[in-house]
Amino acid sequence: MAYQYDLFVIGAGSGGVRASRVAASKGYKVAVAEGSALGGTCVNIGCVPKKLFVYASEYGHGFDEAAGFGWKHQGTQFNWSVLRDNKTKEIERLNGIYGNLLSNAGVELISGYASFVDAHTVMVDGIMYTAERILIAVGAKPYIPEFNGSDFVVSSNEMFFLDELPKKALVVGGGYIAVEFAGILNGLGVDTALAYRGDQLLRGFDEDVRAFASEEYKKSGIDVRLNTDVERIELADAANKNGARIVHFKDGHSEEFGLILYATGRVPNIGSLALEKAGVKTGKNGAVIIDNNFTTSVDSVFALGDVTDRIQLTPVAIKEAMALIAYWFDGKEVDFDYDNIPTAVFSQPAIGTVGLSEQEAEARGIDFRVYQTDFRPMKHTLSGGTARSLMKLLVNNTDDKVIGAHMVGDYSGEIIQGLGIAIKAGATKADFDDTVGVHPTSAEEFVTFS
Ligand code: NDP
Repeated sequence: MAYQYDLFVIGAGSGGVRASRVAASKGYKVAVAEGSALGGTCVNIGCVPKKLFVYASEYGHGFDEAAGFGWKHQGTQFNWSVLRDNKTKEIERLNGIYGNLLSNAGVELISGYASFVDAHTVMVDGIMYTAERILIAVGAKPYIPEFNGSDFVVSSNEMFFLDELPKKALVVGGGYIAVEFAGILNGLGVDTALAYRGDQLLRGFDEDVRAFASEEYKKSGIDVRLNTDVERIELADAANKNGARIVHFKDGHSEEFGLILYATGRVPNIGSLALEKAGVKTGKNGAVIIDNNFTTSVDSVFALGDVTDRIQLTPVAIKEAMALIAYWFDGKEVDFDYDNIPTAVFSQPAIGTVGLSEQEAEARGIDFRVYQTDFRPMKHTLSGGTARSLMKLLVNNTDDKVIGAHMVGDYSGEIIQGLGIAIKAGATKADFDDTVGVHPTSAEEFVTFS
């Protein structure tokens, strides 16, 4: 049977854009459907604008720290609308670049949300499109639990477009997004509380990293509240939906906040796809089930990125897209390695991590040793800041290979990228020791552990 397209991609986010653009550049007839702005979550309401906000908020501490280096300033003022609107302009510029990338590669862009008609057909705004292969790359969306007053909270989506910053905010959650936004709000001068239901923030990270980061967040001014649960939320003035909210916590305590951000995870964004019409099966939280080659329960339908709920990271979705293209068009079976993926949390201070945590190494029964240090970074000898940095290396005793590297402190994200290459390449502790340090840096601690 002849189809209109070789490939129809649903979703022009990080994974979908990469897959469609590379497939088209190989001469295949490709269309991508997107109902919102090009670039998906990462470009529009995720990694990119978030990082711009992190830069903005770091100045909040930077002005104070500059005094010890001789700088004097006449007070500071922060204008939220300048930051928000400059950010939006930059994102619109990126949207344009994504559009050019797609059209230059020969991808047909179809504006609208696609839903399945059958295993080879989708519909967008009442028009049917057929394709030999269909790729689901629709990503994920924020999950907010339902409770009395959940209508009065916002998700990370709304944080990028707030009319104004509140004086006092509550962030609920203990994962990436919660700690990142708590840092942003705190740095921008908002009185910020971070409430997490468990014993310690950042479940899944190395225990030392969790404890150390939590203390540093407190030092930076965030009111970290562990073992804290919200029971219900109400408006302080029922007639003013944009006004203050009163949060009633489960411990009986009540408190007023101008803004409540729920950063309580993300779930696959399958709502409008009508997957059942194609027979595509889903699992936990609605994640599309795929095999090693990103094939769903239907041979002609594929999925990658956050909608599959494997690892919710942009660079993973992009790499998955490249692996899928190689499978389709070069006949290479996919052997995607989800181990040793470096990642950074852009909290303040930031966290960088790659490889195993101490707890994961123990659980796997590995015989390993730990090198660890924490110190006051050189910058703070004059800044008056009290922030400290943590570095930790795990080494397998059997073959001397470095199996985990963790850092809390300035530039962690930048530093961990390099360590990710070393660990992926199988570097040993001896290789680290043989490497000359870059002086004076924090990073050199990783090659001077003894
Ligand atoms: P996470 O899954 O990282 O964290 C969700 C947090 O919400 C957890 O602390 C969880 O607690 C808590 N939680 C879940 N349900 C409830 C509930 N009903 N009530 C109270 N708390 C609840 O999700 P995020 O939304 O922070 O981020 C999603 C993903 O996006 C991340 O896992 C990451 O992969 C990606 N991301 C990556 C970034 C980066 O690379 N820098 C930045 C932002 C996001 P508990 O631990 O107890 O389950």
